[in-house]
Amino acid sequence: MAQLEKQPAQFSIVAQLCRSLEETTKRNEKIRLIGEVLRKIRPEDVAYVTLFLAGKPFPEADPRVLEISYSTLSAAGLTMNQTLLTENTHSLTIAEVFGTLEKLAEVKGAGSKEKRLTLLGSLLNRTTPLETEYLSRMLLGEMRIGVVEGVLLDSIAEASGVSRQLVRRAHMLHGDIGDVARMAMTEGSAALEKVGLRLFVPVKPMLAEMADDIPQVLSEHKEGSAFEYKFDGARIQIHRIEDKVKIFSRRLTDVTDSIPEMVDYAKTKVKVSEFLIEGEVVALGEGGKPVPFQDLMRRFRRVHGIEDMVERIPLRLYLFDLLQSEGKTLIDLPYTERWEILSSLVPTESLAPRVVSRDPRVVEVFLQSALKEGHEGLMAKSLTSDYSPGARGKKWFKIKPVDRLDLVIVAADWGSGRRVGWLSNYHLAVRDDETGEYLVVGKTFKGLRDAEFDMITKRLQALKTKESKWTVHVKPEIVVEVAHNEVQKSPRYKSGFALRFARIAKFRDDKTPEEADTIQRLRKLYEKQFENKGRLLKEVS
Ligand code: AMP
Repeated sequence: MAQLEKQPAQFSIVAQLCRSLEETTKRNEKIRLIGEVLRKIRPEDVAYVTLFLAGKPFPEADPRVLEISYSTLSAAGLTMNQTLLTENTHSLTIAEVFGTLEKLAEVKGAGSKEKRLTLLGSLLNRTTPLETEYLSRMLLGEMRIGVVEGVLLDSIAEASGVSRQLVRRAHMLHGDIGDVARMAMTEGSAALEKVGLRLFVPVKPMLAEMADDIPQVLSEHKEGSAFEYKFDGARIQIHRIEDKVKIFSRRLTDVTDSIPEMVDYAKTKVKVSEFLIEGEVVALGEGGKPVPFQDLMRRFRRVHGIEDMVERIPLRLYLFDLLQSEGKTLIDLPYTERWEILSSLVPTESLAPRVVSRDPRVVEVFLQSALKEGHEGLMAKSLTSDYSPGARGKKWFKIKPVDRLDLVIVAADWGSGRRVGWLSNYHLAVRDDETGEYLVVGKTFKGLRDAEFDMITKRLQALKTKESKWTVHVKPEIVVEVAHNEVQKSPRYKSGFALRFARIAKFRDDKTPEEADTIQRLRKLYEKQFENKGRLLKEVS
């Protein structure tokens, strides 16, 4: 009854809340502050406030994007009619803010830049400085008010009286945190219990933790594990109801149009007509071997000439999970049962090769065969595990041998955010044996602890040869061991190469820069990949 009487909430409530949240580091206090606001506003505003706190203009599963840059925002700010600034500041509601954001997302075609500026300007015309600050941060995707998703979900639970577990589960399945908050606040547990997967709404993929080796997996998964090939491809989830098929990438973007042969597969090769299956597509090159990831990505970036690409970069699909079939959500079933149903529905050759074993020797042989066939390693999946969307945990482990190179730090960039005051992004180089020159093959800030950042900043400053605004160039002296997953070709660096997923594993103070790895060795390593990997059938631009 009381809810009917609630007035549309003012945007100032959100801005004030953001400020208060930023001012406290206490988790419980944050939860209390959010709960207090959620309880006093209208259900539709609950959804908006929650989305805003999550730093999103639209729900995660909503494909709309705003793409507002800092320069657009300042240009819109300049168009503001200064005289209106003070008069109109008290009437802006949360619903109006979100209404304008929806209009912004719809602007397309000729003159869209001006239309966007006008819309944004009209909004900024009505915000107070405090509101402008948080609105800008949200639009730029930089909320940083110390409210991580877990805090927001716990606040919804606390404010609505629904259990944390149920709120988390509903969020995982539903893909719209605002709507989950609205349901929790209005209809409570009864509504959240009914939330299931929705076909054509992308689901966040379940993720794996890195395992050191096979024995670690065997001791963690006492209940047994299935070891599947880990493909170095692109993960896809295929949704189908009758004739309608949609395919989403790991990052939840709709990639249906770039892989028409997978749409055909979904329509013709699966024994049911309503499902959500998951797998990995791998691009095949010479000799039917998978090509490096870099080449596969060309298929996904293509918007034009898709037919041509279908021929030039053939794909192979390996399926490994089934989340929904014929109206039933299967994510709570144990892995073994989901696999059993999946294998009864699709041709055997589309299933990921796997073994179920507790014998480390058997698994080792299987790992070697995965590598030999050009794949990345193995995934180990607990036999009893459910499918937890978006979660990275021990239910799934990835086992992949990493390569290491000894590289020399030749420059470093000053850090920002948490790493401000440190030289934290290191330019890593190999040596050219013939010329003695150091050639950059990548940059990374990954792998170091805070104390190490501190130490390395001091050491690098002592080696400084020249400096620009962001970068300090140094005498090549510090050698680091860098773990990475792959050597890729890259036009970005003079060396012609870049390392994929580089991270510093350790300092090699025992090595001189002359003992670091060379460009000659890197070239060999790149070529060596093709002992197991395929080359593209035809070079594509
Ligand atoms: P990573 O990207 O290293 O965290 O590893 C997880 C990724 O491995 C997933 O997102 C998938 O794209 C990929 N992957 C390859 N093979 C499998 C598999 N058999 N099961 C699950 N994921 C796999």
